[in-house]
Amino acid sequence: MSDKPVVAERLVDDFLSLVRISSPSRREAEVARWLTGTLSGMGVRVDVDDAGERISGDTGNVFAQFPGTVPDAPPLLLCAHMDTVVPCEKITPVRDGDVIRTDGTSVLGGDDKAGIAAILEAIRIVRERGIPHGPIDVLFTVCEEQGLIGAKHFDIGRLRARAGVVLDCDSVDELILQGPAANRMQFTVHGLEAHAGLCPEEGISAIKIAGEAIAAMRLGRIDEETTANLGVVQGGLAGNIIPNKVTIRGETRSRSDAKLAAQTKHMVECFESAARGHRVTVAGKEHLARIEARVERDYDPLNVPADSRIVGLVRRAVEGRKRALTVRATGVGCDANVFNGKHGLEVANLGCGMRQIHTVNEWIDVNDLTATATTLIEMLRLNAVR
Ligand SMILES: [Zn+2]
Repeated sequence: MSDKPVVAERLVDDFLSLVRISSPSRREAEVARWLTGTLSGMGVRVDVDDAGERISGDTGNVFAQFPGTVPDAPPLLLCAHMDTVVPCEKITPVRDGDVIRTDGTSVLGGDDKAGIAAILEAIRIVRERGIPHGPIDVLFTVCEEQGLIGAKHFDIGRLRARAGVVLDCDSVDELILQGPAANRMQFTVHGLEAHAGLCPEEGISAIKIAGEAIAAMRLGRIDEETTANLGVVQGGLAGNIIPNKVTIRGETRSRSDAKLAAQTKHMVECFESAARGHRVTVAGKEHLARIEARVERDYDPLNVPADSRIVGLVRRAVEGRKRALTVRATGVGCDANVFNGKHGLEVANLGCGMRQIHTVNEWIDVNDLTATATTLIEMLRLNAVR
């Protein structure tokens, strides 16, 4: 099968319409309205769930369930996210031959509107051309970029599908099967306030303790499947006050549960061990530095078996286009991390052509967009073949 079946101009028009609508996280309402209108126009009932209210956004996740034409074909989930990273206040796409980029003042938002556009076109084609297919669950999530928040608030029990793809990966003909779990961390160091010039011996500097802890900490790339970072430091009042409090926020990720636990423990211990070295006695009373550590699981790992049905389906679909599928692991999370493994779901992350994402240099090749839609069409077709 060639990439011909896709109506390239309609696909590109949809993509351009979508990227022109500004949709930072928690402000996806206009894109959701556009999608609700488009999906309704395809004759399907569209539901917007209550995730928006629960996360202080202006819309929920957009969900639609297309019936299949082959009654006993297994339902498939096709998912992409509606929000983009900033800057995205005003997006002016610029087309240069087959490449679409921005005017350099914003991201393009191909992350993840390339996925949305490919899904819409694939469903239109199978329906217009009478290509036999099973039921299709379509889900467009909110607030993915802020920690998969929309997906976390979607009721997975509503899905008919037990397999599917999230389209949220750069490149094309690539399928991500493994991604890390992540822990989010916040450390608050409590010291003791004192005048820095008058009586520094009566203070405990929270900033000094934090400095010792951080200097002793393994950060950055820990190993091939583990990373760690401290990204925010807040604290102190003035240059002449010994700071009694500093807060540090960070994270660690790993594709290995054991390594995630070990790195998390290491980071907590660095703070606690630094605090143990600091105490003062003022007016007969002993003051100890102390640490408040808050560790939260941000998301679970993605681990789709290479021999699972969804991987086989994507591979055959890509090979149907005379291309080879590359499967790989990643260091970032996506909505598939939330869905995979729940309710017996197998969900992998399929590349949809976006490039240099999360930068103002983001671009996409129209041919990669059509290739992605064609892969989806082929997946839907093959999924219904017994
Ligand atoms: Zn994304």
